[in-house]
Amino acid sequence: MSDSQDHNDKPGKRDSENDQPENPFEQLQKQLQEMFKQANVTVMPGQAEFFTESGGKGTSPKKPDDQEEDEREHVLETIRRFHLKPRDVKDYLDRFVIRQDEAKRAMAVAVCDHYNHVRRCLEHPESNATAYAKQNVILLGPTGVGKTYLMRTLSRLIGVPFVKADATKFSETGYVGYDVDDMVRDLVKAADNDIELAQYGIVYIDEIDKIAASGNSGGKDVSGRGVQINLLKLMEETEVNLVSQTDIMGQMQAMMEMQRSGKAGKRTISTKHILFIVSGAFTTLPELIKKRLNTHTIGFASSGDASDKPEAELLKYVQTQDFVKYGFEPEFIGRLPVRVGFDALEEEDLVQILEQAEENILCKYIEDFEGYGIEAEFKPEALREVARRAAGEKTGARGLMTVLERALREFKYELPSTVVKQLQVSDEMIREPDAELAKLLEENRHAQRGVHLQEVEAFAKRFSAQHGLHLSFEPEAANAVAELAEKENRTVHTVCERLFKDYPYGLKLIAKHTGDDHFAIEAAMVADPDGVLSKRVVESYREAEAEKTSADEPVSEKPEDGETP
Ligand code: ADP
Repeated sequence: MSDSQDHNDKPGKRDSENDQPENPFEQLQKQLQEMFKQANVTVMPGQAEFFTESGGKGTSPKKPDDQEEDEREHVLETIRRFHLKPRDVKDYLDRFVIRQDEAKRAMAVAVCDHYNHVRRCLEHPESNATAYAKQNVILLGPTGVGKTYLMRTLSRLIGVPFVKADATKFSETGYVGYDVDDMVRDLVKAADNDIELAQYGIVYIDEIDKIAASGNSGGKDVSGRGVQINLLKLMEETEVNLVSQTDIMGQMQAMMEMQRSGKAGKRTISTKHILFIVSGAFTTLPELIKKRLNTHTIGFASSGDASDKPEAELLKYVQTQDFVKYGFEPEFIGRLPVRVGFDALEEEDLVQILEQAEENILCKYIEDFEGYGIEAEFKPEALREVARRAAGEKTGARGLMTVLERALREFKYELPSTVVKQLQVSDEMIREPDAELAKLLEENRHAQRGVHLQEVEAFAKRFSAQHGLHLSFEPEAANAVAELAEKENRTVHTVCERLFKDYPYGLKLIAKHTGDDHFAIEAAMVADPDGVLSKRVVESYREAEAEKTSADEPVSEKPEDGETP
């Protein structure tokens, strides 16, 4: 178990379990906890969105210790023996990330260089002093084009923890918000408190353009500069405390741990081998680059004119001076030697994402429908229509999600309660989802009656089991319930629950009076459930009473043969 996990042991647990007297530290800690509870203060919440190597969000579910240890060893071994070539990495990325060829190549090289260097350091710890400039990366490009996705896919390939944070959340001091060191602590959490693994992880900081100091970014403010300086330290090499200075509870726990074990555990994590990736849309940067390029080409042929170059193309010409003009500290931008431009995604690219990218958004929809036993299939024209509309959203591949959600939401709501077990998604369904859904439901209306009748039967079965009675529906009554459900546009279950809510009690009374626990629901009961039930209860009571009196009366004559008593 790692040190920081020890710090996370439940406070106070030891004493309540073993009934040992609390030491002064524990008493103080309890008091502090109480105080925080009352003041409703949350102590330094982690804000980064983090992904473990499996791509799952948050801390991974608890696994048996042995398995966890094996996996950890496996990942560390992979890093120690890092052997991937840039081409292997690019081939892997190609399976998931469409287009962005240059970015994939550049990242493949950057990542291989980085982990080769880490491997060398692990093999020859004594040669650590060799000058090596870490390949921290800046990704430039519009939203939704795969910047995060590419990095997350890479972290999964290598098996290292990954955290994503938003630069706009940082404050310079950390007292009001989230400070840059918190990202590194979140990386430790993403690695299930495994500090050794965390120090080879990847930290991804989005919206970095918002902390540029000049007015260019339309973003933050003076504190952006301070945040840049703090980030600079992290990106170089520094030791980050595992417990934040503002995390009073964490500090207390660390102190207690030290007192308990008599030695100080590992208190810091080195950022030396952590790979930092920053990214941003830099919407006004192409304009700056264009200006610079045009100034430099004055007097040259018009073919050198940058004004007709698309923005994404211009970003590929970015130089340090452009970033500085944009509002970044030269030292900060100097620590980001790998600059990678991402292309905007066109309609054709979006079609490719849907048709070719592994684990793309369609898989999620297909799985969702599968969850209800519905086999969904998308026609090529439907994919084209989704891509066309998504391109219009101007949010890159995120538009695909928006369009699919809008088109299929009602299908997901209605179809699970119908006979439809196969869904061919057509382009009309994407264009006119409501009308197409209505058509589909109408086509299946007749068959739907069969499903509703089965649901009536299922209700009777559940009712019988739950209340220890034998309930069935006469055919006419079952039809009446189905009709009501269709008319009211509610499920059979809802309608039955409402109609027969007093039946458990009423029928048990009747069974008590008559001794018969078999009941058939008649059409009249569907029309007036409570009225008929009360009548039957009264009748059964009277019959029981009458029987009792006749049983009490002295028998004057013997009943004739064959006559029932
Ligand atoms: P950003 O560039 O803003 O970081 P993301 O990487 O978060 O965008 O993209 C959002 C989602 O869109 C991803 O999770 C992925 O499913 C999909 N996506 C984006 N770009 C691509 C791409 N080039 N190829 C395949 N899927 C992509």
